[in-house]
Amino acid sequence: MALLDIKKAGAPVLKEICAPVDKIDAKLKRLMDDMAETMYEANGVGLAAPQVGIPIRLMVIDTGEGLFEFINPTIVKKEGSEIDTEGCLSVPQIFGEVERAAQVTVEFQNRRGKMQRITAQGLFARCIQHELDHLDGRLFIDIAKSIRRGDNE
Ligand code: ZN
Repeated sequence: MALLDIKKAGAPVLKEICAPVDKIDAKLKRLMDDMAETMYEANGVGLAAPQVGIPIRLMVIDTGEGLFEFINPTIVKKEGSEIDTEGCLSVPQIFGEVERAAQVTVEFQNRRGKMQRITAQGLFARCIQHELDHLDGRLFIDIAKSIRRGDNE
């Protein structure tokens, strides 16, 4: 496995609408492994493929419930709303208050190509929405109600 370079705000790839993943092959699995390693090394809870310079619909998340790999994710149901603080590995030292759905149901493919559906709440739901935004070229600072600078949360 290898650590990947995390793109920072201003990089054009972070503004792209990412393309669907059409083939789940060894190369994609290696990318998922490398993304997970990069996320853990950076103490992040989520990482989307465009953040490592690859504009495809792929993201990894671990908010403490284990590693989830999402290939071609789509949110099929949203419920409620919550405002909470977010940060992003591509926007270091910046935090913002962002309104998100409190609960989301997301469909995606796993690394065996099997369709999955999960319903998430709290931080996990927030992270899914944050990472999915990356796949549509959107950063949390584009939608935050307020933004502040800080060394940590
Ligand atoms: Zn982010």
